[in-house]
Amino acid sequence: MEAAARTRLLDRLREVVGDRYTLADPYEIRLYQYDSSPETALPDLVVIPASAAEVAAVVKICAEEGCPLVSRAGATGLAGGTVPVFGGVVLAFSRMDRVLELDYENLRAVVEPGLVNLALSNATRPRGYYYVPDPSSQGASTIGGNVATNAGGPHTLLYGVTVNHVTGLELALPSGELVEVGGGRAAETTGYDLTGLVVGSEGTMAVVTKVWVKLTAVPPQSKTLMAIYPDVRSAGNAVSAVVGSGILPAAIEMMDNISIRAIEAAVHAGYPTDAGAVLLLEVDGLPDVVQQLTERMVAICRQHGATEVRVAKDEAERQALWRGRKGAFSAMGRISTDFYVMDGVVPRTRLPELLDQIERISQRSGYRIANVFHAGDGNVHPLVLFDAFQPGQYEEVLKIGDEILKLCADAGGSITGEHGIGLEKRENMRYIFSEDDLAVMDQVRRVFDPDRRMNPGKLFPTDGAEPPRIHAVRGQRAAARGSITGEEPWI
Ligand SMILES: Cc1cc2nc3c(=O)[nH]c(=O)nc-3n(C[C@H](O)[C@H](O)[C@H](O)COP(=O)(O)OP(=O)(O)OC[C@H]3O[C@@H](n4cnc5c(N)ncnc54)[C@H](O)[C@@H]3O)c2cc1C
Repeated sequence: MEAAARTRLLDRLREVVGDRYTLADPYEIRLYQYDSSPETALPDLVVIPASAAEVAAVVKICAEEGCPLVSRAGATGLAGGTVPVFGGVVLAFSRMDRVLELDYENLRAVVEPGLVNLALSNATRPRGYYYVPDPSSQGASTIGGNVATNAGGPHTLLYGVTVNHVTGLELALPSGELVEVGGGRAAETTGYDLTGLVVGSEGTMAVVTKVWVKLTAVPPQSKTLMAIYPDVRSAGNAVSAVVGSGILPAAIEMMDNISIRAIEAAVHAGYPTDAGAVLLLEVDGLPDVVQQLTERMVAICRQHGATEVRVAKDEAERQALWRGRKGAFSAMGRISTDFYVMDGVVPRTRLPELLDQIERISQRSGYRIANVFHAGDGNVHPLVLFDAFQPGQYEEVLKIGDEILKLCADAGGSITGEHGIGLEKRENMRYIFSEDDLAVMDQVRRVFDPDRRMNPGKLFPTDGAEPPRIHAVRGQRAAARGSITGEEPWI
């Protein structure tokens, strides 16, 4: 951005959000160049608005100045979604973190987009309600970021992902106009599902300024069991067997031996370090039903190769099992300086085959690959362990990630199960979409954002052309990245 244009923009933005919350100092804006993915890019300016009206005014100024705009919330995104690769203004939501309304009679909450996911359940739990989508980053990621990426989590197997729990949105359109879409409190809406369209659009259509979400009653009982397997293949087969039996647990998570050892070193969750893989399965409901389903699941797991099945005997043991799973990414810092996490999805029945293929890639390449994932959804998160200070390793693990995504696409799956496309996978979109598909998506996007100024360089392939400001961080440390989960997860 030219110096004169930047100064003019800075002056105008300061009038809206004040000097303190308009950042232009090179040291301050460096904090906004990254998210939790390996690549970075510097913005020209950062604004931290306090209200939807301020957001709308900022968006309008950016429209008038023809300036790119990137929304940034908790910055836990793993696909580079908040990285401002065309520069411009980063709009940070750290001050817009309030619960605006709790309406238990209509089972709704209205929140600002910067509210940390877990804070909503913490606020409603005393009344017996919670917000279901529970990404493992829920102690740091926000409702607005979850909306933009359509986040999933362990318990979205039974209850659905973010889009199934968002009933309405207030948006600042790229023109600066504030609009509401969706039904808010109503059970059903008519007409186009614009809420569903914007959820998962990764900030490329509009800026989310307010969110209406569903509240759900905390189940009367939840039981968690850990099934222990000699290898990932038998654990993968057991996942299909459980679901194929007609039981849909609230969650089915898998961790392989590498992950188990890392987790035990960090969290002491009670996982067996000599197991090839463990499954965590959870059922919710009335106590009698939970008991029956638990017994059936124990039997199915045993029939399908489990050497042992342990049912958490009390809430403390259950919480420990989940603490292990939710702290898994952070735990990788115990066994590797760096990791690169992939996110793909395949039809559940193809999981064993995919895990075999990943193991073969690991043996061929010499890189250890840990697997910890929402197995019930067929959603895989291979973590390729490497040392970023060794020349060439970063480039090699990127290629491995690419190869795994291609395998997912070829197996009839997709290139993201929940982390989104962002910067990282924009070229991989061609693995699953034709040129016609992409052209239609671009047309829809341009109904909202004709100039493609909202989060440019994301989601759509750029034909291999690197966006102007991209910078790969080859020294990102696994431990540092993992630590951002912050608070203890609530399960
Ligand atoms: C340890 C760890 C575990 C994770 N586990 C999971 C998991 O289980 N499930 C899962 O789905 N993800 C997971 N993630 C990924 C990440 O937490 C999610 O993608 C999350 O939804 C991002 O939220 P955020 O608030 O950090 O958003 P950010 O990273 O700040 O932004 C993400 C995207 O949303 C856009 N955006 C943010 N706010 C707005 C807004 N107000 N309006 C419009 N666009 C906006 C940004 O431009 C960007 O494209 C994990 C990440 C980490 C580091």
